Amino acid sequence: MVLAPERSRFPVLDPSDGSVIETLESATPQDGLAAVDAAAGAAEAWASRAPRERAEILRNAYELMTERLDEIASAIVREMGKPFVEARGEAGYAAEFLRWFSEEAVRANGDYGVAPAGTNRMLVAHAPVGVSLLITPWNFPAAMATRKIGPALAAGCTVVLKPAEETPLTALLIAGILREAGVPEGVVNVVVTDDPGPLCEAILADPRVRKLSFTGSTAVGRHLLGLAARSVINTSMELGGNAPFLVLADADLDVAVREAMAAKMRNGGEACTAANRFLVHESVAEDFAARLTTAMSAVRVAHGFEDDAQLGPLINAAAREKVERLVADAVSRGARVRCGGERLPGPGFFYPPTVLDAVQPGSELLREEIFGPVAPIMTFTSEDEAVQMANDTEYGLVAFVCSRDLRRAMAIGERIETGMVGLNRGVVSDPAAPFGGAKQSGIGREGGHHGLLEFLEPKYFAFD
Ligand code: NAD
Repeated sequence: MVLAPERSRFPVLDPSDGSVIETLESATPQDGLAAVDAAAGAAEAWASRAPRERAEILRNAYELMTERLDEIASAIVREMGKPFVEARGEAGYAAEFLRWFSEEAVRANGDYGVAPAGTNRMLVAHAPVGVSLLITPWNFPAAMATRKIGPALAAGCTVVLKPAEETPLTALLIAGILREAGVPEGVVNVVVTDDPGPLCEAILADPRVRKLSFTGSTAVGRHLLGLAARSVINTSMELGGNAPFLVLADADLDVAVREAMAAKMRNGGEACTAANRFLVHESVAEDFAARLTTAMSAVRVAHGFEDDAQLGPLINAAAREKVERLVADAVSRGARVRCGGERLPGPGFFYPPTVLDAVQPGSELLREEIFGPVAPIMTFTSEDEAVQMANDTEYGLVAFVCSRDLRRAMAIGERIETGMVGLNRGVVSDPAAPFGGAKQSGIGREGGHHGLLEFLEPKYFAFD
């Protein structure tokens, strides 16, 4: 491709010391449209490949990713900062989406029926929705890409992937692996930019683009839904979260603390599923807070490549400033700092594991995503109060409930307005499960069979 002279470059930073890893050319809106040209040009041939062939290419990609977990993990650590063990876990999880959707590619089945009046037959097939724009965030740079590419390709769609400006290198690496696995030219097109607005607007205005699959913040999601509305594009939106983590009076506190650590500290708290509010029955609140403080204080904060690192830096300076603002606000309203609470010295955007209790209603961190290793604790006295507190948010992605009585936990889970509930479990993500949110956490599901359906359009044939 010939580069336009005005194309600018942007740096990819290492969040553990702020140094520049690499600079990349920033794609322009024209580059975005060229990517749409490529995707549209490859669409018919890809859609008409036998499902088994698409499945086998995805399976090859799964195998290749699995052979190259260390390389992918290293890319993730460098540009995103999480500890290598976690990055390797993400790389494996990312590969699993390709395996799962290689298996789903051959299951895009339809229906056959008789019209109720008996006049004709009804056949429902599933057609690929068409050229898809996939926009992903920085927090899981590998998994958020394959969670969209896997089902899109399985369904027979071609795609333009726009990764986050903080983490383009992992996406480019995965695109290379997909090519090696046999994905034909034009089927997966990656555009990287540090100015996503004009590029995505141009792509969404192109009538050949029929789908937007977005993962990111609710604010950007709302804006993109507005753009998608102009051309009435099919959308899947995986947006922000504000997960409540309920500890009932009868919870096994060993389990509750272990799972609280998983729910809070997976990805250093930089996860849409991260427990954002700990709601604990008053009878066990002090015990829970003390044990959680012990566990959080034991977490080793270090550069992601250090052997025993358990928590890396936040993604950038703005993310750390946000965490600091939220903690300062909570403390000014009466919260008590049980551990952490102040940024760590030195280069990089490190913030320590932090536990706050006696958090007061109205504190900003109860409304906003913290996106960092901060655990705010509040108490409740009745289950009705717990449910009311859990639902007191515009978000509805996931909730966690800890209780020895599974029936009780389930009954509470049914009353909480979220797309997912973890019962005595702090992690719910699985490529085979429908991941997604209610309320302003999004529209649609990724993973499971639902994930495939997001890239298919039912097509009904009536005949005698
Ligand atoms: P973000 O919304 O700032 O950015 C997400 C993506 O949108 C990036 O690729 C970014 O470049 C792009 N973008 C930003 N402005 C844009 C614009 N005007 N037009 C087009 N694209 C634009 O989010 P982030 O900070 O990268 O990620 C964190 C957010 O993602 C959190 O809110 C988190 O909860 C959410 N998230 C949700 C899920 C989920 O499955 N529900 C998973 C991971 C992250």
